Amino acid sequence: MRVKIRCPACGLAQSVGPATAETPCPGCGRAVPLAWTAAVGEDREVDACPVCEGRDFYVRKDLNRTLGLAAVVVVGLASVAFLWSGRELLAYGILGAFALVDLAAYALLKLVTVCYRCQAEFRGAYRRTASGFDLHRAESLELEYERRRERGREVRSRDSPPR
Ligand SMILES: [Zn+2]
Ligand SMILES: [Zn+2]
Repeated sequence: MRVKIRCPACGLAQSVGPATAETPCPGCGRAVPLAWTAAVGEDREVDACPVCEGRDFYVRKDLNRTLGLAAVVVVGLASVAFLWSGRELLAYGILGAFALVDLAAYALLKLVTVCYRCQAEFRGAYRRTASGFDLHRAESLELEYERRRERGREVRSRDSPPR
């Protein structure tokens, strides 16, 4: 299993594996502690998040936005070029073929599990048990996580010696 985690302090993403107990954030340098459950470590099931220890997840299609956008731009330009040179049939043919490929690709896309609180993404062969995205749940859980982060910052600033 590979997990794309987000730093609780600055939000920068990085990819980690289950052997990592703690990882320094490449953005702010803060150590991010990771608590792996047996199920996550063995790629069986996502039961608890290693970053925030939350147990609320949703699944979504693992869409590569950059790649998808690049394909749309290329196909768009090609069909415009064919239209412009008077080969309408070819232009519409390309658009039609692309729509089919797009549909097929979407159906074949794997599901990725995402943590509602800290947005960690879990990729692997594990069994998908979470349901789809729920906006109401997301809002309340994100708020809860945000409050906890705030509290963490306050505690840290109280603990640090005065300069
Ligand atoms: Zn950071
Ligand atoms: Zn999390």
